[in-house]
Amino acid sequence: MKSIFSVFSGAIMVTALAVQAQQPAHHWSIVMHGGAGVIARANLTPDAEAAYRASLKRAIAAGANVLDKGGSALDAVEATINILEDDPLFNAGHGAAFSAEGKNELDSAIMDGSNLKAGAVADVTRTRHPISLARAVMEKSPYVMMVGTGADAFAARTGLEQVDPSYFFTEARWQSLVKQLQKDGRPVPPRPAGAPPPGPYIPVAQLDESADSHSYGTVGVVALDRAGNTAAGTSTGGLQGKMPGRVGDSPIIGAGTYASNQSCAVSGTGTGEYFIRLGVAREVCNLVQFKGMPLQQAADQVIHKELEALHGDGGLIAIMPDGQRAWSFNTPGMFRARQTEGGKLEIGIYNDEP
Ligand code: ASP
Repeated sequence: MKSIFSVFSGAIMVTALAVQAQQPAHHWSIVMHGGAGVIARANLTPDAEAAYRASLKRAIAAGANVLDKGGSALDAVEATINILEDDPLFNAGHGAAFSAEGKNELDSAIMDGSNLKAGAVADVTRTRHPISLARAVMEKSPYVMMVGTGADAFAARTGLEQVDPSYFFTEARWQSLVKQLQKDGRPVPPRPAGAPPPGPYIPVAQLDESADSHSYGTVGVVALDRAGNTAAGTSTGGLQGKMPGRVGDSPIIGAGTYASNQSCAVSGTGTGEYFIRLGVAREVCNLVQFKGMPLQQAADQVIHKELEALHGDGGLIAIMPDGQRAWSFNTPGMFRARQTEGGKLEIGIYNDEP
């Protein structure tokens, strides 16, 4: 027969274990970028700057809210990017950059650091939220990557919202394409079918994309949830004025997007060709995993040494299961924000901000 003491101490142990199980093992954390490039104070009006900061704040709040309620890193990444894909200020979804033929061809990827599952799409033209399609490829197909009309058709079959391609059109991005093509002496395509009639418009940002080797505004998110799992996602319209069919680094697992709980989760932005050649996202994780580098040092080494050695431009955000966070970029600016459970929200644009 059990003594009262052993029953009592057993109950204490069970209670202690239950409390332990309830306690979050990790504080959640989220980092996002809204693209890197020639984003200098001189070419961002105070109104434009305020608009970008407000958009970054709104988007990261959505992801933070998911994590704060105990949601997964994957859900937080998708929720944040969905908002940015609907925001005309960013080069993803509505507001995406155009190909030289005046089309929006969208690329996206998502990765689950807990199991190395990944999904990616490229050259999508009808799916409102490419990041959700990337997730559907990961969860509802046996594949990692799908492209073009087949990917859009799969999106429709899985019930993801389809839109007319003109949904992605924004006047500001179009005017910037026209300017860029004229500057390069390339033919200007006709205004896309279904686009609103041209009219006077006030550009939100005075950023001169033609001065840049890539279009600013790609979006990416990395997150760590209370269960200790990481995830990464990236969504983009790619390079403004790109040749139709060109695919950048964003949907390439290991280049623009990567997540592993064994090392880190990364999303990059910049001229994608360099990011593909270096395998930037996986490279950062390699330095962390196999060289034991602190995350910020690994991010800086890849951006400021390896990327610069190739004369590449851009930046990245990263997070680790132990809570380390990093951002690094070699451009004048990168739209960015981060928040950790119990900490304060940080938002930055220029390279002289922390
Ligand atoms: N990395 C993207 C691409 O090359 C563009 C960007 O991040 O701005 O498609």
